[in-house]
Amino acid sequence: MTPVFLVLNSGSSSLKFEVFDAKGNGEPRRIRRGQFELDSKPRFKATNPEGEVIAQSRLCDGAGHQQALDHLLSWLREHDDAFSLAGVGHRVVHGGQNYCEPVKVDEPTLAALERLVPLAPLHQPHNLEPIRILDRQYPRLVQIACFDTAFHHRQPQLARLFALPRSMSESGIRRYGFHGLSYAFLASVFGRYDELIAKGRVVAAHLGNGASLCAIENGASVATTMGFSALDGLPMGTRCGSLDPAVVLYLMRETKLSVDEVEGLLYTQSGLLGVSGISNDMRELRAQASSQPSAQLAIDLFVYRICRELGSLIAALGGIDALVFTAGIGENDAATRAEVLRGSAWAGFELDPSANEKGGPKITRGSGPSAWVIPTDEELMIARAMRRMIGEVG
Ligand code: AMP
Repeated sequence: MTPVFLVLNSGSSSLKFEVFDAKGNGEPRRIRRGQFELDSKPRFKATNPEGEVIAQSRLCDGAGHQQALDHLLSWLREHDDAFSLAGVGHRVVHGGQNYCEPVKVDEPTLAALERLVPLAPLHQPHNLEPIRILDRQYPRLVQIACFDTAFHHRQPQLARLFALPRSMSESGIRRYGFHGLSYAFLASVFGRYDELIAKGRVVAAHLGNGASLCAIENGASVATTMGFSALDGLPMGTRCGSLDPAVVLYLMRETKLSVDEVEGLLYTQSGLLGVSGISNDMRELRAQASSQPSAQLAIDLFVYRICRELGSLIAALGGIDALVFTAGIGENDAATRAEVLRGSAWAGFELDPSANEKGGPKITRGSGPSAWVIPTDEELMIARAMRRMIGEVG
């Protein structure tokens, strides 16, 4: 039997998983990945590290997280050489004010994490659901929660405060920041690319369907564009990003939208999708940009906002040594990288067009700050936390 760490990333209508060989004491090695789509046609698909599909099947209509987990665990058990679970690691969006490191989940911890649901109502319940299910079925299974907020926990007070009455900040209404697993992974590998990035002033740009920027100094988060929720900062696939709060008041008072309707509007109908009226998907927008002005406008707004937020984070850092692009758009869309670097030429960036087209890793030249493309790996970050907390596995 091969002992494995199972890493789960659970959303409202999907369950993504990665399986790491846990044997020994070293860096866990990814051996499988896959996902369940839990929509009107629930289905399962798994691939090997080379990306070849090694299993896929339909689940019964109406299947949810319980059925997906049952399916996954029996698939792991039946596997060639039978995988035995050494632990399960979970991506959890919110750790609140107290959880600033990965934690082994017991009943009081789970109850505390459930109390954070109002801070991230669209993500936290779905992140916690598999923990609850597995805990009921396998009470002795080690489960570890890793938080998207944790990397930002030590930011300076000024970066965390809203200009609201202090009593509100003390009750938890403050900036938390997200995408922390992604930024923590990047910070852990900067030294492989350049010593200056590891020790210097970096802005990391996590540009995927969710998007944010993070100012990192000497490996630690100093400021970030997401705030109280994952709605703040940059426009995203379907989220609006920073918005004058008076817009929300206006929508509710004058257009009589309910809280749920405003929430749906800001989280699922805005961003690239809302501005273009076409798609939340950058590939689709690039394909249509020459014929559809609204697709080009959505891209232009995305790039413009990145450049403005980048300027703000450069101010927070007091200068910049490197800019790092990651996630779906950051790793794959050379045009977005080029436009951001051209829009930020004032800071000294000099694009190397052919290196950028090739995907880097270094995509600038000259003596100014450098820019890089570095693939992120949030799941490996979770598997590393499991190794630290579970230790050697025989
Ligand atoms: P993520 O949430 O990190 O999976 O990123 C999803 C976003 O990345 C979507 O907007 C995709 O269109 C975009 N993306 C993925 N691959 C490419 C690509 N080859 N070129 C441009 N955008 C891409």
